[in-house]
Amino acid sequence: ERLYDICDYYDAESLLTGDERRVLGRLRDFLDREAKPLLADYWERGEFPSQLARPLIDLDLMEPAELTGTSGTNNAPARGIYQGFRIFELARTDASLATWYTAQAGLFRTAIRVGASEEQQREWMPRVIDFSLKGVFSLTEPESGSDIAGGLSTTADRDGDDWVLHGAKRWIGGASTADVLAVFARDVADGQVKAFLVDRQAAGVNLEKIHRKTSLRMMQNAHITLDGVRVPESMRLHNVNSFKDVAAMLRAMRSDVAWIATGIQAGAFEAALRYVRGRQQFGRPLGSFQLVQEKLARMLGNLTASLSLVVRLTEQQARGVYRDQDSALAKMQSCLAMRETVALARELAGGNGITLESDVARFHADAEAVYSYEGTHEINALIVGRALTGESAFTR
Ligand code: FAD
Repeated sequence: ERLYDICDYYDAESLLTGDERRVLGRLRDFLDREAKPLLADYWERGEFPSQLARPLIDLDLMEPAELTGTSGTNNAPARGIYQGFRIFELARTDASLATWYTAQAGLFRTAIRVGASEEQQREWMPRVIDFSLKGVFSLTEPESGSDIAGGLSTTADRDGDDWVLHGAKRWIGGASTADVLAVFARDVADGQVKAFLVDRQAAGVNLEKIHRKTSLRMMQNAHITLDGVRVPESMRLHNVNSFKDVAAMLRAMRSDVAWIATGIQAGAFEAALRYVRGRQQFGRPLGSFQLVQEKLARMLGNLTASLSLVVRLTEQQARGVYRDQDSALAKMQSCLAMRETVALARELAGGNGITLESDVARFHADAEAVYSYEGTHEINALIVGRALTGESAFTR
């Protein structure tokens, strides 16, 4: 029996093992039973349903499919199709849940895998995987988003065995419940970007929740200020020596976001299909009209193209063929498709498509944040453009 009978049109799930499908099935059951009834309420209140965190962690989502090797020359962590489908399954239910999961399983884990020395990894990685060391990825700044490579202005000043950090970070997902913040800062001595694990409770760290969001309302984002925060050298990620090492992390994370964008399309498509089968106008189900069927076909085309793209990207990544432009292209293209798919879903649900009573409204609103994070459309397009022409259109 297939897990995805409608939204995985070309049967990509046949690439999964029986064990992997069983874990995904358990995840599906949990999400249907425990998560779905909470989503509209928590979204409206702008709060994360924290009671879901522990049971989700206990589903052992990071294992057993953890691929321990690194691939190719880029030191990008290898990712399995199964890992992608876990993100897909979460996003198919809710984009904030998927973002919450990838903050730890994608962003933070990648920061440790790529940035930490072997010794540091031995100490931290088991705790990252079982969520007993919760961390977030603090790169973006109030004045620097797309141009963070050149514009990063948080500073790190060496003082004996410590470093002293000054600056601010913005949009940091999951910071309020994290134990540590992986903070990227510029070394005042050599001008290079370094990374530090900062205790969230350390003196000089201040977190403010970003309020009044209209997208991904359940996911908590923070504005962080760092005012003379002391971090011991032992908490510096020893393998981060320049922005190149940060780029290796982003390369891996963009693939996760492409899976999120694909999962959102699956959720929106399924909700819209249910709706047009159930609702009658002109004495017939909406689904019987030609113009409605064309929209359904377009949505399925977008979703299937996105899923094929991320599956192939993930296979290439596991083989070690994995360049900046590969994940940038997948992030860009899946998000373009997502924007059209969720808009069509919203359209098909008519007026009901703008209330939280219908799932499509949540997918429609949440897609906007996913469209912009992990590199906007333009920045990912320019990464592809640089590879095609040999000319960088976005350096300072
Ligand atoms: P800007 O860089 O100011 O861009 C504004 C617009 O200008 C965009 O359309 C952009 O494409 C365009 N633009 C910029 N430069 C060019 C150019 N050269 N050519 C053409 N167009 C250009 N960051 C983290 O570090 N950690 C997180 O956990 C995190 N989580 C996030 C969660 C959410 C919900 C959101 C919304 C953001 C998150 N971010 C996080 C930050 C995110 O990565 C940035 O928002 C993103 O990189 C864009 O930066 P910006 O918002 O400053 O936009």
